[in-house]
Amino acid sequence: MIAAVAAGVAVAALAAHGTWHRNSWIFGPVLNRLPGPGQIASITFDDGPNPRATPLILDALKAENVRATFFVLGRHADRWPYLVRRMAEEGHQLGNHGYWHRKLHRKLPGYVREDLTRGADAIERASGVRPAVFRAPHGFRSPWVTAIASSLGQRTIGWSLGVWDSARPGAEEIVRRTLQGMRAGSILLLHDGDGYDADGDRLQTAQALPAIIQGLRSRGFRFETLPIA
Ligand SMILES: [Zn+2]
Repeated sequence: MIAAVAAGVAVAALAAHGTWHRNSWIFGPVLNRLPGPGQIASITFDDGPNPRATPLILDALKAENVRATFFVLGRHADRWPYLVRRMAEEGHQLGNHGYWHRKLHRKLPGYVREDLTRGADAIERASGVRPAVFRAPHGFRSPWVTAIASSLGQRTIGWSLGVWDSARPGAEEIVRRTLQGMRAGSILLLHDGDGYDADGDRLQTAQALPAIIQGLRSRGFRFETLPIA
């Protein structure tokens, strides 16, 4: 009896770890840092596109000649498809962030498959590109989220460093947190959109981006998009 309870507690603890820890391997493999050697980093954006922030972010990336990864939200792609097309045209990597941005860790497999498929369809409609990488909203997964993404040809991606740019602490603070936290191989999480408010304000992130890129470059970083296999 005690053993059974202990086992149950252990299973529950593992499940919690797999759900809440974005980089946990318990629910399947997730890429949380770049595998290559050297002072490399990836800049990733979630929850866009956003009609005000995304164009500024694309402008900054172009000015600095950096390729980034956008984990696009399907319902925002349907609303602003020209921005998703622009991402692809300017050489950025498109990733799937699902369609609705509901937390997936308590959703049944049918819901997850539908949300991921619908998200990828919206990205492809907008850009002609089928995403090969996927990031779960908030990183929350269940035993089947990564398996379903994989069956759709999408590698599950976590992140190394989040700087809470979505809480809008000020552009300078976003820069400071980023430069302090980045290491060789880090995958940086930023937000060009708001997963819950299509018109949410992400201008601080856009404002911070040039100084982030320049600051990381001055520390010897090179930027890469995410490996798909
Ligand atoms: Zn999100």
